[in-house]
Amino acid sequence: MKIAQVGEDVLRTKAKQVEQSEFNQQSLITFIDELLVTMLEAEGIGIAAPQVFDPRAIMIIASRPNPRYPDAPDMQPLVLVNPVIKQSSENKVWEWEGCLSVPGLRGHIERPDSVDVAYLDREGKAQNIKFDGFVARIFLHEFDHLMGKTWLDHITNTENIMANDVWVAKFAYQFLTSRLA
Ligand SMILES: [Zn+2]
Repeated sequence: MKIAQVGEDVLRTKAKQVEQSEFNQQSLITFIDELLVTMLEAEGIGIAAPQVFDPRAIMIIASRPNPRYPDAPDMQPLVLVNPVIKQSSENKVWEWEGCLSVPGLRGHIERPDSVDVAYLDREGKAQNIKFDGFVARIFLHEFDHLMGKTWLDHITNTENIMANDVWVAKFAYQFLTSRLA
């Protein structure tokens, strides 16, 4: 599926809740499968339905280790429908983020270090989960998309924006030197 780029109205629109009656429909099952394929093809570690022009409150998060986060958990993709934040930690952390809908840029963004979430799974069953660290960050980034926001909305200082190529050069070097030490 085509990925919406910043400036598209769908990325500025609050997502609609998925109705219980939709859960046994083939159309929802097919949509979630296609959303997953789109995320994997784009080498994303998360995606939200508004990013493929669908206004429903559906997201997938799929952390995996990478040069910037070598200790990031390698998780099976997790589908969350109608997620709600029950609690988020007082403790906040800064990290650089990218977004499939904001190509070419990275943003240095402060977010809670952990978050408790209630959601419906892809069968429509109610679930609760706690996310920590890098996975909490992915969840909160995708949750922003369901609220009609992107990481750009967190920027109050333009020094917190970097071209992706510069970010890769800086942090690939840092990663190598940390391994050499
Ligand atoms: Zn994004």
